[in-house]
Amino acid sequence: MKPTHFLLCPTCSRSVPAHTQENFCPNDGAKLLEACPSCAQPILTPFARFCAGCGFEFASLNPTPHHTHPQGPTAQEPS
Ligand SMILES: [Zn+2]
Ligand SMILES: [Zn+2]
Repeated sequence: MKPTHFLLCPTCSRSVPAHTQENFCPNDGAKLLEACPSCAQPILTPFARFCAGCGFEFASLNPTPHHTHPQGPTAQEPS
């Protein structure tokens, strides 16, 4: 099995599995990160806010450094 990696929105910390092929966050239109822009390590956890490889803070890419309270994409999962 291939390890799944995730695409992460630096603005709202939303993440989606890479196989969804989303490129931009549907919440805010930010470009989703596929890997760390600093060291290119893939994002292997949907809850990553910092790179596991180099400690890069993904939210620092956010053009408006405004930390509201992003409610995680946890709540209702239809199944
Ligand atoms: Zn977003
Ligand atoms: Zn990194």
